[in-house]
Amino acid sequence: MSGKPKAAFFDLAGCEGDQLQIANLEEKVLDLINIVEVVSFREIMKEHSDDYDIAFIEGSVTNDHLAERLEEIRENASIVVGLGSCATIGGINSIRNSQDHEEVKHRVYGDQADLFPSWDKAKAIEDVIKVDYHVHGCPIDRDEFIHVVESLVLGKDPEIPNYPVCVECKLNENICAFERDEFCVGPVTRAGCDSCCVNEGTICWGCRGLIDNPNDDAHSDVLEEYGLSAEEVMKKFNLYFGWQQEARKDE
Ligand code: SF4
Ligand code: SF4
Ligand code: SF4
Repeated sequence: MSGKPKAAFFDLAGCEGDQLQIANLEEKVLDLINIVEVVSFREIMKEHSDDYDIAFIEGSVTNDHLAERLEEIRENASIVVGLGSCATIGGINSIRNSQDHEEVKHRVYGDQADLFPSWDKAKAIEDVIKVDYHVHGCPIDRDEFIHVVESLVLGKDPEIPNYPVCVECKLNENICAFERDEFCVGPVTRAGCDSCCVNEGTICWGCRGLIDNPNDDAHSDVLEEYGLSAEEVMKKFNLYFGWQQEARKDE
């Protein structure tokens, strides 16, 4: 890559919330356009180019058409970055992975279900192509996105936490959700969001996905205190982890 790298943004099956986070960068948008040249970004510009170095991809892969598109993007780009939990871990789309596919299709599309061919399981993009980096979350955190872009432009690996949300939650001195008789997947979820949902009085739903080795690196103090195992936490509350649970079975 010489000069300012060219960046392109793409969306597969998702709600476009991550792209919206970037479109709404406000004063930080200068940090972005100072370091990369954005050549494609459907949400904010009409121009499009297939000449790019870094591809940012939002959304999961749910049918053949999206898989082909993804493969083309991989061929064009030197660096591929997954954007948001649909892309990085299957995310919300993977709720259906443990359900009957025909039933799910009819629930969504009714009599027209056959007009929308789709796979029975939603996949993360790394299930289809090689992915170089991930920006986690649903939606992504803007500061983390800028950190990832800056790191890539400097030729460094971005620093993404691989410890559980409980670590940040304890530092923020929150009352634990289990203490409030609620269930929380913070002990097995990758930190990096500053435990923002628990700070607001709710729970961690796991949107940043599992830490790399939940059985070894889960927050043991919380698990011990409430008599839980990492496996029980992952199985009991699977809102975002559907694809990751499948992938772990194959390890
Ligand atoms: S990760 Fe969340 S915000 Fe991003 S596309 Fe999926 S549902 Fe939307
Ligand atoms: S289980 Fe949830 S609420 Fe309790 S410390 Fe961990 S992240 Fe915080
Ligand atoms: S607290 Fe959990 S659900 Fe909320 S942003 Fe962080 S990882 Fe996502």
